[in-house]
Order: sequence, then structure tokens, then C-alpha cells
Amino acid sequence: MIIDAHGHYVSAPPPLQAYRGWQLMNQARPTKGKLDLSDGQLEESMQGSIQRLEERGTDRLLLSPQAAAMGHHIGSELISRYWTQTNNEVIHRICERFPERYIGVAQLPQSPGVSPKNCIDELERTVTEFGFVGCNINPDPTAGAGFTPSMADEWWYPLYEKMVELDVPGMVHATSTLDPALHLVGAHYVNVDTAAAVELLYSRLFDEFPTLKIIIPHGGGAVPFQWGRFQAINHHPAITPGEPERFEETVKKLYFDAAVYDRDAMEMLIRKVGVDRVLFASELMGTAGSTDPDTGKAFDDTKQYVDQLTWLSDEERQKLFEQNARQVFPRLSQYLGEPTPA
Ligand SMILES: [Zn+2]
Repeated sequence: MIIDAHGHYVSAPPPLQAYRGWQLMNQARPTKGKLDLSDGQLEESMQGSIQRLEERGTDRLLLSPQAAAMGHHIGSELISRYWTQTNNEVIHRICERFPERYIGVAQLPQSPGVSPKNCIDELERTVTEFGFVGCNINPDPTAGAGFTPSMADEWWYPLYEKMVELDVPGMVHATSTLDPALHLVGAHYVNVDTAAAVELLYSRLFDEFPTLKIIIPHGGGAVPFQWGRFQAINHHPAITPGEPERFEETVKKLYFDAAVYDRDAMEMLIRKVGVDRVLFASELMGTAGSTDPDTGKAFDDTKQYVDQLTWLSDEERQKLFEQNARQVFPRLSQYLGEPTPA
């Protein structure tokens, strides 16, 4: 079985954008309103994604709303809440229509300066009523226009407590940025991933929440490549007092997804963080849907890079493609049968 742990609904037809436009025109009087999106439009919008899943042999895709469109910084907390609810409801409809393809992951109604406590209701609704198995967490709802506490700060604890209670993991996921000097998917996303990983790894968070599960997407940003830098921090007495810990151990606090788009990056990720910490992923349909001129295949057909790592055992492949996702997303068990033997 192949579980892709990271995908977004990026092919929404015009009614979803029309809804957003209507919502933003009426910011002074926020109401949830109604999304006028038919089942036929919804089904048609998924055909490209389904075709890719079939071509690549992917059994299940964990699907969440379009990340760049989360727009937590736009409008009030209520605007963010209604927009989030509407998008999660669309994901739920897709998962109900195509239960053999998609399993839902929630957007959260984050808003600048608003305690993540405000996300608890929507997380609970999507998990208990919709059957979602995880959530995306944006480390900076201000989109660069302000400051948000570190993801290791107690400010976030109410959300983490609910995640632990519901037994759902969170994937760190930025949305758009207001900074004109940051390319959205070329720089901003991977910057945010790296920064969040560092904040979380050099913190007491997992001492206080030993069962909390956080996934850093896009191969952990710069984590595998800057390995020696982080190792040096661990062994620098002025920065990290006390008995030094090897970074190989530090990094095991987190999980990483395999949405990296060349063989060498895939190999470095798995060798550095260890096969037990990596979840197969492509971020379908997203940044890397274009075709590699050297291979004729899509960059985000990430299974090809795993296949090229001939040193991986069958057991290790089974962990990457299935077992690790089952462990990190325990609620997947309600949808999947018995684990595939290696
Ligand atoms: Zn993503």
C-alpha cells in the first residue's frame, strides 16, 4: 500500500473563489453564507488528481485545503473561521465522494494574535464529525506582517493538548506571505519549515507532550542539508550547556515528509533523519507538478526517487510508503485494512 501523506485541493472550480470574493466584500458584516458548488463540479475538479494517483499507484492521499489560499492573515478571526469551515466542508465532500482515494486533513481557523485555542472547535468537528486524521498548522498567521510566538511556546499548548487528546498529528504548513522579497514556494515555504523544525527541536515541547506528533513537510526544509550546523549547535557549550546530545537523537522528536523533488535530496533526507521518521509524500497537486525535461516525468512523482534508492530493504520501503503514516496518523486505521506485510 502506498499512502501519500501530503496533498492539497488546488483544482477548485470558480465557485470557491467566488465565495471568497463575496466573503471579503462583506468583511464588515461577516456571515458564513453558502458555497454554491455542485457535486458535478466537485467531481470534475478531482479528475486530474485521480488520474495522477492511478498512474503512480498511490492508494490514498491525505488531502487538505489549498495551503496558499488559507490566508489566515486576511480579515478578522470570524472571516478566517468561516473560510476555514467552508474549505474543510469541501474536503469532507471530496472524501465522501471518493473514499477509496482521499482522507481528510484539516485547515485551522488561525488568525493573527488570536490564541490557537480558537482552533479547538474546528479541529474537533473535522476529526469527530468528518473523520479527518490530522491538521495543518501555520506557524505565522500574520504572513510576515507581525510576530507570532515560537511553535514551542506555551501560547500553542491548548491546540497541542487537543491534538494529543484526539490523537491527530499536525503538519507545519505556511500559507502565503506579505513579504515581496520571498518567493512563495521557492523560499517562503522551506524557510518556514526550517525555522519551525529548529524551534521545535531545541525546546522542551516534547518533554511536556511526549505523544504529540509534528511533521515537517518538504523534507524538513534545510534540516538534512544543514545537519552539521545543527550538530555543532548541540556540541557548542556556550549555546547548548550540559551533556551534548547527538543531533541524530534530537531530530527524532519530529517526523518529515518526502516531498522533495530529486533523488539526491530523497537519499539525504532518509539517510540523515532515518527511515523511521520519513513519510512518503508528493504534495500533489502543488509546486512540482511540472515535467522534468531529463526524465519526462513530473517532479512530484516522488516514488521514482525512492525506487532509485536500491539500498533500501523491502521492510524499509514498507515503512516509508505505509507503516510510518499509520503510526503518525493513528486514525488512518478506520479507513485501511490490516497493514501490508513487508
Ligand atoms: Zn503542502
